[in-house]
Amino acid sequence: MKTRDQYAQFLLPVVAKGVEPVVVASAKGRTVVDEEGRSYLDCFSGISVVNAGHNHPKILAAAREQMEKLVHCCSYVYQVPVVGRLAEKLASIAPGGLKKSFFSNSGAEAIEGAMRLVKQHTGRREMVALGFSFHGRTIGTLSVTGNVARKRGNGPYVPGVAFGPAPYCYRCPLGLKYPSCDVACAQGLKDVIRQQTAGDVAAFIAEPVLGEGGILAPPPEYFRIAAEIFHENGALFIVDEVQSGFGRTGKMFAIEHSAGVRPDIVAMAKGIAGGFPLGAFMAREPVSEAMQPGDHLSTFGGNPISCAAALANIAVLEEERLVENSARRGEELLGRLGRLAEKSARVGDVRGRGLMIGIELVKDKASKEPAPDEAKAVRAAMRERGVLVGVGGAYGNVVRLQPPLSITADECDRAASAVEEVLR
Ligand code: PLP
Repeated sequence: MKTRDQYAQFLLPVVAKGVEPVVVASAKGRTVVDEEGRSYLDCFSGISVVNAGHNHPKILAAAREQMEKLVHCCSYVYQVPVVGRLAEKLASIAPGGLKKSFFSNSGAEAIEGAMRLVKQHTGRREMVALGFSFHGRTIGTLSVTGNVARKRGNGPYVPGVAFGPAPYCYRCPLGLKYPSCDVACAQGLKDVIRQQTAGDVAAFIAEPVLGEGGILAPPPEYFRIAAEIFHENGALFIVDEVQSGFGRTGKMFAIEHSAGVRPDIVAMAKGIAGGFPLGAFMAREPVSEAMQPGDHLSTFGGNPISCAAALANIAVLEEERLVENSARRGEELLGRLGRLAEKSARVGDVRGRGLMIGIELVKDKASKEPAPDEAKAVRAAMRERGVLVGVGGAYGNVVRLQPPLSITADECDRAASAVEEVLR
């Protein structure tokens, strides 16, 4: 039976009806090969995961070596050397001097753990999140996700969550313009606490660049203002770096773009281990001490093979200077694609940081009516030209370019030329 038929018959429609019509046989570096032998330039990285490129030989070798030694014995029951080594390494690269880690399998699981920790540390119960945020697909993480498209059909969610205005400059919910707005969306978080909560806020949770919301990069001073407001209220700041971490935005962690911000907890996954499943959250002391044995555990969390892959992945990011490449290639690509916003009637906005780039399509520039069908059509036309891109955004109208961070100038040129041609 063909893979397509197996998908149609034996996978839930939530999977089978949503997948791209590409059956992936193998991948290497920035190239994905389908079962007919056709090659594609991958500009989506398995949703922002393979930052060092597909099947990097050093990551595979580290995983293989670990697999021969130990596959599993639960890193929460016994002590495993590679888990200790990864935790030590993360403490040396984490933003804000965060030191202690908890390992999970996925991003949502990392966020769940982080939310639990802030509640136990502060003794408070409420959370503040952002409009158009995305933090995962579990009930807890959907509760702090600010997007009806992701939440539909599953409510009511965990109570005690308030939402601040989305830092979405192109469609400012306050009807203002940066910089004359004085970052009113960040200042307005004071009112969110005052008007929408019971004054019992444990934490503010936010993505430094809102990925699923449409690659929304808030103004540079946004998180300094926001973090200050919550810290003054005795609440903590959880930074969700699941999508933006590990070099994606041209810094190892995207919150490093915001000078002077002190995160209390950082959650990560996706780009951490070169495609092996792993998530983590790190906390500063003494927040980290609030959970004690028995409070939290994950049977597969901190799997030794994934941890070995993560160590090798971080080494590759450093040795091959991929974070710097992300910054450089991202700036060039953003500059070139940015000109499309002037030239093309359908491009409302081009934005992003590093190699996390979104092209927002509209039916009409004056009304800004979202063009989700056109975004899907662009994705299909790019695919026909041998380039894989993603589609997302609060209105489903954002074409996403998130290639492996090793992408070359020539490959960026190929991707940008394909976008230009398709939009023409
Ligand atoms: N947080 C952010 C910012 C994400 O982008 C995602 C996934 O897209 C998640 C959390 C959830 O991660 P996972 O799919 O690994 O559970």
